[in-house]
Amino acid sequence: MPELPEVETIKNELLPYVLGHRIGGVTLFWDGIVRQPSVEEFHARLIGQRIVRLSRRGKYLIFNLTSDDALIIHLKMTGSLLLKPASTEPEKSIRAIIYLDDETGLYFQDPRKLGRMWLAEDTSSVTGKLGPEPLEADFTPEILAQRLHNRSAPIKAVLCDQGFIAGIGNMYADEALFAAKIHPLRSGKSLSRDEVERLHSAIQQVLWAAIGNKGASVDTYLRPGGELGTAHFQFQVAHYLSGKLCPVCGTPIERIPIRNRGSYFCPKCQPSQA
Ligand SMILES: [Zn+2]
Repeated sequence: MPELPEVETIKNELLPYVLGHRIGGVTLFWDGIVRQPSVEEFHARLIGQRIVRLSRRGKYLIFNLTSDDALIIHLKMTGSLLLKPASTEPEKSIRAIIYLDDETGLYFQDPRKLGRMWLAEDTSSVTGKLGPEPLEADFTPEILAQRLHNRSAPIKAVLCDQGFIAGIGNMYADEALFAAKIHPLRSGKSLSRDEVERLHSAIQQVLWAAIGNKGASVDTYLRPGGELGTAHFQFQVAHYLSGKLCPVCGTPIERIPIRNRGSYFCPKCQPSQA
C-alpha cells in the first residue's frame, strides 16, 4: 500500500506536469471510484478547471482547482497514478483517466478497485481529522510524547492510526520500530522518554530515506512515469523479508499479527520489555 513516501513521490513527480494545466476531460471506466459528488456533478465541476496547487496530506493527494474545489485522491492498497500520452490505450486495470490540456492523461490504475476520488471544497470533510505530519517542523519529540502518554494500544497500531500521525502504514511502522529498537506490542504509554526520542528520530529517518529512494515497490506501487521505487532495498525487517535474519544481530525475524496486519520485528533487538 502506498504510504507517505510513495504518495509524496507521486506528488513531487507529478507536480511539474500538472501545475497550471487545465482538465480537458474525464473518462470513468468504473463509476464507483468517485465517492463524492455524483458522477454527473463530478464531470461538470472538474472539466475546464485549472490545477493551481498539488499537495499531500497523510496518504491523500490534493489537487486544488481554480473553482475552490479540490480533487482528492486516495490510492488505498493497489492504486497508481500514471502520466501517459492521452492516446495510450488503457489497460484493464485503469479505472479512470483525467485528461490534461497538453494531450497527456492521468491514468488511475487500480487492480483491486479500492482507490477513491472526491471533489470537495473542504478537504477535511473527506480526510477526516488527521494527526500531525511526521516530517513537518511542528512534529517534535515533545508532541509525540504528549500524544502517546494515554495510548494503551500496541505502539505498532498507534503508529498506523491516521488520526494519531498521518501517512504511516504497515511498512514504515515496522521499519521505524526496528530502527528505534522498540517491540511492536509495547503500549504507547509505556515508552520511556528516551524511547520516544529514538522513535521520533527513527520515523523521520525511515521516511526521508524512502522518499530519497522514490518509495517502495514491494507490491503494485509505480511512480507516475511507470518506474519502480527502490526504498524496499533499504528495508531491514518490513514484510518481504519474512524468514530472513536480523541484519544487526542475525536472529531470525519474527512475524506476529497486530490488528490483522503482519508485523515484522527482531525479538532480540526489540525486546518486549524496556
Ligand atoms: Zn536483531
